[in-house]
Amino acid sequence: MTIQYLPPKKISSFYPPQRTLMGPGPSEIAPRVLAAMSLPCIGYLDPVFVDMMDELKMLLRYAFQTDNALTFPASGPGSVGMEMCFVNMVNPGDKVIVCRNGVFGGRMIENVTRCGGTPVVVEDTWGEPVDPQKLEDALKQNPDTKVVAFVHAETSTGCMSDAKTLVEIAHRYGALTIVDAVTQLGGSPLYVDEWDIDAIYSGSQKCLSCTPGLSPVSYNQRVVDLVKQRRTPSQSWFMDLDLVLGYWGSTNRTYHHTAPINGLFALHESLVLLREEGLENAWARHTRHYLALKAGLEAMGLTYLVKEEYRLPQLNAVRVPEGVDEAKVRKTLLSEFNLEIGAGLGPLAGKIWRFGLMGYSAKSENVMLCLSALGSVLMDMGYPIKVGVAEAAAHQSYAEQHAQAAKKIKGS
Ligand SMILES: *Cc1c(COP(=O)(O)O)cnc(C)c1O
Repeated sequence: MTIQYLPPKKISSFYPPQRTLMGPGPSEIAPRVLAAMSLPCIGYLDPVFVDMMDELKMLLRYAFQTDNALTFPASGPGSVGMEMCFVNMVNPGDKVIVCRNGVFGGRMIENVTRCGGTPVVVEDTWGEPVDPQKLEDALKQNPDTKVVAFVHAETSTGCMSDAKTLVEIAHRYGALTIVDAVTQLGGSPLYVDEWDIDAIYSGSQKCLSCTPGLSPVSYNQRVVDLVKQRRTPSQSWFMDLDLVLGYWGSTNRTYHHTAPINGLFALHESLVLLREEGLENAWARHTRHYLALKAGLEAMGLTYLVKEEYRLPQLNAVRVPEGVDEAKVRKTLLSEFNLEIGAGLGPLAGKIWRFGLMGYSAKSENVMLCLSALGSVLMDMGYPIKVGVAEAAAHQSYAEQHAQAAKKIKGS
């Protein structure tokens, strides 16, 4: 006899509601990507699949703008990509400088400690970029630093740091670099080779708008050499680059773990979409919709957390107006408008909202819905705004941008 272990409620198939996703990730998934995911599963060593893996690596090199042979999607969310960098590059006793200006820098520190390394933390205020001078000072004081790690696009604050400059400084002091590009990839300019980044990881569910659970990574020759020189194997069996390479390397593919086959179909399709659109066009699209959203939010009287020059177009952190119940606003947006936006984290909890414009979610329908819904909810709660001003400002921004683009084409 079997036991049911079931509550009285009948459990039937699960169908999620259709939501508009404008939080810090996941972003909406393009229909073509969803369709690719539902195709029949095949074996992870099927020659047809192996050919697709090669294409995936090529497409990722394009997205990362790198020639690195060791470029592939790690099986797991962005956090796995992060951990893969640290467990392979940090040996017990190694000194690692971590620049922290938000949530994800904090996680990097945790990774260094768990690898037995010694973290040296360069702190910056949440909402401000990493200060290159502070990094240089820390390197001067710690010339034995092995690795410098920082987040390029801090999703918790919507702030972008100057990756090129930070990498340059780290290299001047002989340190390798680990760069978090989870929110950057596909959304804003990133040039792995030109900027000489050593190790970089990203995520599938932000500006690539693919299914969550995959982490594109890329490592240059310096990292490969470092891994080869290791005297003790990495503490992680699953993330050991030496072992993973047996499957993702170019020859004699052997079983390491079962690849997330259908997820990789989806990633392949999302990268084909990116290639069709063109990387620079994708970056420009994120900026276009950010400018319209910004015009609308500011017309409503809202202000940004981050200074304009450091702002991420794909993640808009906006201050919650005095006296507004921020959680109630988010709850109402979800229940009344099927719209998800993000809350503040850590010291910014209760103080900001985070509006994501990532990948497939970066489109004018979403910008207009968001402004309209937010205006409606805020007015309903007694906040003094005129409904419609935000939408008008956003339309105006789109119109100005179109006029500017037309002028540019005419002039060239
Ligand atoms: C989302 C995010 C991560 C973590 O990715 P998961 O897929 O949630 O594990 C890491 N770093 C940054 C900057 C992120 O935005």
